[in-house]
Amino acid sequence: MNEIKEFSPMKDGLNYKYYINGKWNVSESGDVIAIYNPYSNELIGYVQGCSKKDADEVINSAKENVDCWENTPLEERVNVLRRAADLMLKWAEPIGRILMQEIGKPLKSAISEIRRTADIFYATADAGSQIVGETIMGDSFKGFTKDKISMTYRVPLGVILCIGPFNYPFNLTGSKIAPALVAGNSVIMKPPSEGAITPLYLGVILEKAGIPPGVFNIITGRGSEIGDYLTGHPKIDMISFTGSSETGRHLAKVAGMKPLLLELGGKDAAIVLDDADLELTTKAIVKGAFSFSGQRCTAVKRVLPMPRIADLLVEKVTKEVMSLSIGDPAENKVIGPLINSKRCDFVQGLIDDALSKGATLKCGNRREGNIMWPTILDNVTIDMRIAWEEPFGPVLPFIRIRSAEEAIEISNKSEYGLQGMIFTNNIDLAFNIAQELEVGTVQINGQSERGPDHFPFLGTKSSGLGTQGIKYSIEAMSRPKVVVMNLSEKGKLIHECRG
Ligand code: NAP
Repeated sequence: MNEIKEFSPMKDGLNYKYYINGKWNVSESGDVIAIYNPYSNELIGYVQGCSKKDADEVINSAKENVDCWENTPLEERVNVLRRAADLMLKWAEPIGRILMQEIGKPLKSAISEIRRTADIFYATADAGSQIVGETIMGDSFKGFTKDKISMTYRVPLGVILCIGPFNYPFNLTGSKIAPALVAGNSVIMKPPSEGAITPLYLGVILEKAGIPPGVFNIITGRGSEIGDYLTGHPKIDMISFTGSSETGRHLAKVAGMKPLLLELGGKDAAIVLDDADLELTTKAIVKGAFSFSGQRCTAVKRVLPMPRIADLLVEKVTKEVMSLSIGDPAENKVIGPLINSKRCDFVQGLIDDALSKGATLKCGNRREGNIMWPTILDNVTIDMRIAWEEPFGPVLPFIRIRSAEEAIEISNKSEYGLQGMIFTNNIDLAFNIAQELEVGTVQINGQSERGPDHFPFLGTKSSGLGTQGIKYSIEAMSRPKVVVMNLSEKGKLIHECRG
């Protein structure tokens, strides 16, 4: 990494700085947060533990630069995004390697996270360059005439605070930053503390791409120390957040009346009907549940199989899961470390609770360091915690059902409503079940997942607020500005109907 000269201003040895007004600084607090590789426990670096005083300066820098960016021609804003995407592709490998080290993501997936973010930047640039307004004549409403004409165009909201989670720290901050910038806002990014280093590279990338100083800023620091201060600050005009439902709920209370986009937790259920294609279903469930060791909001988090397919499906999924590679993310093993030992303890607690209440262990339930072996639990019942709680780890419960109605009931009883899946060849029935599921998205014969990124992405209930997806995010991060023209009598032409 050190040989890439463009990266040198952002760090001093192992000490990464934060980014304010086009400069890389150290916190006035003198505090730093150590980042360890969750697989090897090796020290990767330190990020700044910024204080509220640092936060004030970052917020002022962003606020002072809203006007300059809003008034930069849209074509130039779009070109900054395109140049940033070019640089992401150029540096995807070295940045992906850092990502692999700091959160334990398999190397290939880590590199593809950077590339996918570049794709989002290109697509947002395309969508952003199509931002148009509309003209409405008054006479389509009773009592009004063509003398009133509204001209509507979109303006930015101001300063947008973008807070991301540890599991996609580059992509899920990048997917907020691109629409915010193209819409003309200035941005403050607060990366997760675990996974804080990789998103810092967005500072270098956007600067090289031509963003003016102060329009894009990064503040690192513990959410528990500066989170409330940032989200409650009156100069923050909107918050785009991805993380747990618990943090999201708290944030919404502190934020008050600010517009919010919240992407939160999930408990996505796969309903498997008797006539489902066994091969396709098995593959989708295994990939959906265990990629990145289950640390995905849209991971398959419970399976609800009908009686005639349940035995076969459990056996086939268990067989596949037992063949998953386990170990070093640098070697692209499917199952790697969880983010920290606290998360492992939590997942173990869910497994222990289910086993103590009579669930059947099909495989797994083993731990070494932060690696948890992929675990399948059969005959899970609704009195077990694993039926309802989000593990964010490699454990998959099978809750056997007797009817489609029961599947719908169990799916909907969850506090979450991110995605749902239906596996069947009966498309009419699938469509009818889809209508009943209280989730943002229903996948038919496919695993739950985010993307393609221009699709709308949203959660109901505790899974979120608002809709993301390229054009939806641009809309959410801007507002209509309405100018009404009131024409006078002067110069009016008279048109009579002669009939
Ligand atoms: P988290 O613990 O809620 O943290 C998310 C972010 O919030 C981090 O940057 C964290 O900073 C920050 N934060 C903590 N306290 C805060 C406060 N008081 N005010 C403002 N920000 C605060 O979540 P996580 O463990 O990183 O991510 C896993 C969760 O995210 C899972 O529940 C998963 O389902 C969800 N997720 C959802 C989606 C989706 O699209 N729906 C996608 C990915 C993940 P610190 O790290 O410094 O504490």
